[in-house]
Formats: sequence, C-alpha cells, structure tokens
Amino acid sequence: MIRALIFDFDGLILDTEGPIYRSWTEVYEAHGVALPFELWVKTVGSSNQAFHPQHHLEERLGRPLAEEVINRRVERRIELVLAQALLPGVAERVDEAGAAGLKVGVASSSSRDWVNGHLQRLGLLARFDCIRCRDDVEHVKPEPDLYLAVVDCLGVPANEAVAIEDSPNGITAAKRAGLLCVAIPNPITAGLDLRAADLRLESLAEVTLQELLDRLSQTK
Ligand SMILES: [Mg+2]
Repeated sequence: MIRALIFDFDGLILDTEGPIYRSWTEVYEAHGVALPFELWVKTVGSSNQAFHPQHHLEERLGRPLAEEVINRRVERRIELVLAQALLPGVAERVDEAGAAGLKVGVASSSSRDWVNGHLQRLGLLARFDCIRCRDDVEHVKPEPDLYLAVVDCLGVPANEAVAIEDSPNGITAAKRAGLLCVAIPNPITAGLDLRAADLRLESLAEVTLQELLDRLSQTK
C-alpha cells in the first residue's frame, strides 16, 4: 500500500533545469567556449561536485572569470527561473495525495532557501508534510540519503513511498533508498537514460493520482 508521495524539486515541480543550463551556456558562448552537454548533465539532480561549470570554463580560459560575470550569471538564472510556471499537474497531484490521506514530501539536492523560497512563492509550501534538502544530509543524490531522510520524517516505510523524479541522479537515489519511482522528464533530461524508474510519464497532468498508482502497481 502506498502511503507517501515524494517529489523532487528542480525540473519536476518547476523547470529550473532549462534556465540554469541556459544561464551557463550564455556565459560560455560569450567566451567562445562550448559547454559539453554530457558534462553538464552530471550536475542535473545532484550538485556541482560532479561537474563545476565555473571551474571548467576557467580551466579552458586559463584565467578566473570576472566577479561581474559570475554575479550576472546568477541574476540571469533567477530571471529565467522566475519566468517559469509550475509544471502541469503538480498542484493537482499534490492536492489529490493530501485528500487521499497520503503523506506528501519533497527531496531535493538543492538548498533549503532555494526550494522553500520557490515553493512559498508558488503557494505550495504549506501543502508538504516534510521537505529535506542538501542542508539536511551528508550526501545529495544519487546517494539515497535525501529519500531516506524524507521517509523517516514522514514515518513511512521506503517501499510504501513513491518518488517522482526527472533525472537519472534522482531516480538512482530513490531506487537506492528502496522507493518506487516515476520518471517525468523535461527537455534537459528527456534524452537521458531513465530506465531505472518503475514507470515513465511525459507529464503529471496526463494521469490522476489514482491512475498513476494503478499503473505503478501493474509494473510489479
Ligand atoms: Mg530534478
């Protein structure tokens, strides 16, 4: 029996992945250097430990980036992210889960300020029973720590929880923690290997919560 639904944040609740990638490709292009997508995707769902876009560009240029360039990139990222709407079906599935008596959580490799700030702005913060971010654990995704922290906080066994993820790093984290996992790709992650997930949907708007759970139970 499924007792909890746990959402990733970046690229799943809000499409921050496209904006973050674009904010960096603009800086790379301005310096005449290509940003290799295969290196970039290591960061998706995880952290800059796997690939550091600033350090990589500085190595290629043989000099540090100007502080002004770095600050402008951060501003540009925020500007692009703020232009994004909540992804389709997220609010509806969160509400259905709450109404059905399921616990609802968020597991994110991003900082608490980033996740809570956006959820507050989108009017969703109070609808989650528990949110765990990189501030709360030793290791971000693809390690299982974040999902284990959320199921512990929700008081639900891992195998009775469903993770909803957009990236290979997130899916690996959820499966290592023992959760069921639904993959919902965005333009950045659509071409990556998401086969470790139990089910793949194109959008959270294409199913009701009950349909999602029914389809998941048919995969076992
Ligand atoms: Mg993600």
